[in-house]
Amino acid sequence: DGIVLEQVREHVWELPQEDGMRVPARVLASESLLEEISEDRTLEQLRNATHLPGITNYAVCMPDGHQGYGFPVGGVGAMDAENGCISPGAVGYDINCGVRMMKTNLTYDDVSGLERELVDALFEAVPSGLGGGGVVETGVDTVEQILERGVDWALEAGYAVEDDLLHCEDEGVRAGADASMVSQKAKDRGKNQVGSLGSGNHFLEVQRVTDVYDDAVAEAFGLERDQIVVLIHCGSRGLGHQTCNDYLRKIERQHGGLLDQLPDKELAAAPAGSQLAEEYYAAMNAAINYAWVNRQLIMHRTREVFADVFDRPWESMEMDLLYDVAHNIAKKEVHEVDGEDRELYVHRKGATRAFPAGHPNVPAAYRDVGQPVIIPGSMGAGSYVLRGGENSLDLTFGSTAHGAGRLMSRTQAKNEYWGEDVREELESGQGIYVKAQSGATVAEEAPGVYKDVDEVVRVSDELGIGDKVVRTFPVCNIKG
Ligand code: 5GP
Ligand code: MN
Ligand code: MN
Repeated sequence: DGIVLEQVREHVWELPQEDGMRVPARVLASESLLEEISEDRTLEQLRNATHLPGITNYAVCMPDGHQGYGFPVGGVGAMDAENGCISPGAVGYDINCGVRMMKTNLTYDDVSGLERELVDALFEAVPSGLGGGGVVETGVDTVEQILERGVDWALEAGYAVEDDLLHCEDEGVRAGADASMVSQKAKDRGKNQVGSLGSGNHFLEVQRVTDVYDDAVAEAFGLERDQIVVLIHCGSRGLGHQTCNDYLRKIERQHGGLLDQLPDKELAAAPAGSQLAEEYYAAMNAAINYAWVNRQLIMHRTREVFADVFDRPWESMEMDLLYDVAHNIAKKEVHEVDGEDRELYVHRKGATRAFPAGHPNVPAAYRDVGQPVIIPGSMGAGSYVLRGGENSLDLTFGSTAHGAGRLMSRTQAKNEYWGEDVREELESGQGIYVKAQSGATVAEEAPGVYKDVDEVVRVSDELGIGDKVVRTFPVCNIKG
C-alpha cells in the first residue's frame, strides 16, 4: 500500500517513525530482495510491529523476510522486559522451530551409491508426516520432565551424550520453564510426538560440504570440503502450536485494552510484568525444551541409521553435533541501548541468533570465533553455515536470517508445481534423492518457492551480521 523506505546505506532501508509508530522500522536487504519482500504484507506487518509497547531502536526485517501471522517471518523485535511486552505472534506458532547440524567424518565418496539405501532407512526410522507417532511414546509425566529439563532428560534416558549438550544453546536446557503453565491439551498432543519431524517445511537432509569460505573458522567448527553432514529442521510440534494458541486467546481476553490500541489483532501482547507475560514466558520456555528434545531424538535415530548402513558405531564416524539454533523464540537478553545495559525480550521469529566472537553466551567451543549460524536453503539448493558477525549486536540485537524465505504461498506453490515431477527432476537432474510422506509437501516445498539463499547470505555477510563459513548441498532428504 505504498510504504516507502529510505535507504540508509547499502542493504539498510528505513521506514521513518510516523503516526502510532514507537520507533522506525528497518529492512536489511539488497534491492532485489527488497523487491520480493515488498510483494506481500511484510512491510505493513513490520510497520504494525513498531506499535508494540517497549519496542526498542527499531523493528527489523532480515533479508529472508516474508509475511507471517501478525509479525513477519524474518522479523526481530526487542521489547523492554520491564516496561514493554511479550507477543506470542512475534515468536510464532512453532515455538523453537530450529535447525541443528550434525557432523560426520565421512566424505561424499563414502555415501555416493548408497543414497537410496540411506534415504529409505532414514525415512523408515525417523517418524514424519501428520500422524506417525514419535521416537518414543510417553506419558504426561515424561512430557513434563522434558518440558522442564530439556536435553538433560534425553541424556539421562540414553538419547544424548554429554557433548551434545555442550554444543546446544543454553546447553539444551532453557531456564525458567514451567510445565504447569502448559495446558493439559498441549501435553496430550505432545505425548506421542517426541522425536518426530512433522509435516510440510520440516526435513532431515544429508548434505555434503561444497565450499569453504573461511578456513580458520571452518576448522574451528570441524568442517571441511566434501565432508558429509546432516541437517535436521523441526520444532515443538502440536505441543508448541497448542501453547501459542492457548496464550493468544488468554492474552486477547485479558489484555483487550492494549489490543485495541494495536493495528492488528494478531499482534496480541501481554504487558511486561503482567501475570500472563510471566506465564507465557514460562510456557514458551517449556516448549523450547520440548523442541530441543525433539531434534535430539531425531539426531539419535539418525546416528543409529548410519551405524546400521555403514556397519560401525556412530562414534567412530564422529557424528557430533555442530550446533542447534532456534529460529522462533523470545528470550530475555541484556543489550546495550544508548550506552546503557537493558533487559529486553528479544523476539526472533524466523530469525537466528548470531552472537559474535567473545560473547559470553556463545558456547566455550566457539567463543573465539563466534557462534555457528545455520541457514537452510531448499532441497534443491545450497545451505550455509555462518558465524555470528561483529555488527550483529549493533544492527539486529545479535541476529541474522533463518533461511532463504518463501517467495510464494503454499496454495500458489501447489498450483505451480506437481510433487512427483519435482522429486523426479531433483533425482535425475541433480542427483538429490527426496522421499516424502506426501506429494503435496514436495510441491509446496519445491526449490522455486524460496528466495535465492545465496543472495540472502551475501547480504548477511556484507552487513557483517553473519559471516559465510561453508556452503553445503543436498545428497538426500526426507520430508514430512
Ligand atoms: P521455515 O522455518 O521458515 O519453515 O523454513 C526455514 C528455511 O528452510 C526456509 O526459508 C527454506 O529456505 C529452508 N528449507 C525449506 N525446505 C528445505 C529443505 O528441504 N532443505 C533445505 N536445505 N532447506 C529447506
Ligand atoms: Mn516449524
Ligand atoms: Mn523453521
